[in-house]
Amino acid sequence: MGELTQRSRDRVTGALLAWGESRLRDLPWRRTQDPWVILVSEVMLQQTSVARVLPKFDAFIDRFPRPGDLAEAPLGDALMLWEGLGYPRRCRNLRDAAVVVQREHGGRVPDDIDALLALPGIGPYTARAILAFAFGRNVAVVDTNAARVLSRLVGEPMKLAVTQGLADDVVPEGRSWEWNQIMMDFGATLCTARAPACDRCPLSRLCAWGGDINRPDPAVATQGTSRPQPKFEGSDRQARGRALRAVAQQPLRDEEVFAAMNMIDDVDRAKRLLGQLLDEGLVVRVNGTVTLP
Ligand code: SF4
Repeated sequence: MGELTQRSRDRVTGALLAWGESRLRDLPWRRTQDPWVILVSEVMLQQTSVARVLPKFDAFIDRFPRPGDLAEAPLGDALMLWEGLGYPRRCRNLRDAAVVVQREHGGRVPDDIDALLALPGIGPYTARAILAFAFGRNVAVVDTNAARVLSRLVGEPMKLAVTQGLADDVVPEGRSWEWNQIMMDFGATLCTARAPACDRCPLSRLCAWGGDINRPDPAVATQGTSRPQPKFEGSDRQARGRALRAVAQQPLRDEEVFAAMNMIDDVDRAKRLLGQLLDEGLVVRVNGTVTLP
């Protein structure tokens, strides 16, 4: 299960490094090894595409260049810069993480897996990404792209732990930064979910699946590969985003928030969503109005 021979591993590694070295996408978080900048980018990229993170990233880093800058700022300032990225709980968690980094680590992002995992909003994937991209540790970062590529190479669906074990096995010693970035770009641009370009793939001779339309794609049943996103139009997520955008302009009464959510005829749902935003600390009540914290 989930195995490649040593010879195959070496060939996969060599072919992918050769493919990727001249093709790596130029992204702002790839121009630095500053652990804080990389942490911010990884949190932004958790549920948001590169294309949507790019226009927001520089402004956020300019305003909060160090963990202490975010830790000391009102959450509302951060939420305003987060607008458009979605899933604003991540922004609150990021600020909570900045507070812990400032208080418990002297303002330096820790380089230890357990300390990273103890930060709010940092799971195993993000912790590994920080270790690989900021500290050059020899760990594999298995995002949805890497999981898809590996399952196709092996030719069978895999559970997360198996994928992670295989991924760790193929990281070339001392080159984890390039390797992990290349793996992600390879999956994002060539071995894509819907249209893998097997006819021009440098791994075609090593790949057990190889885009064979007569066999099910192993990536589909592999844990950690992307699933279709629920519809955004009409969703709670859309309504919460509208509410946050509206109160970022000015404090509003409850009814005005409901109107901003387009839910004047569905007050029960509007109240539930506003209650969630209040419970999560993403908005607060001040003098009978709702505003950013
Ligand atoms: S041959 Fe096709 S399925 Fe296999 S790694 Fe290359 S692009 Fe992906």
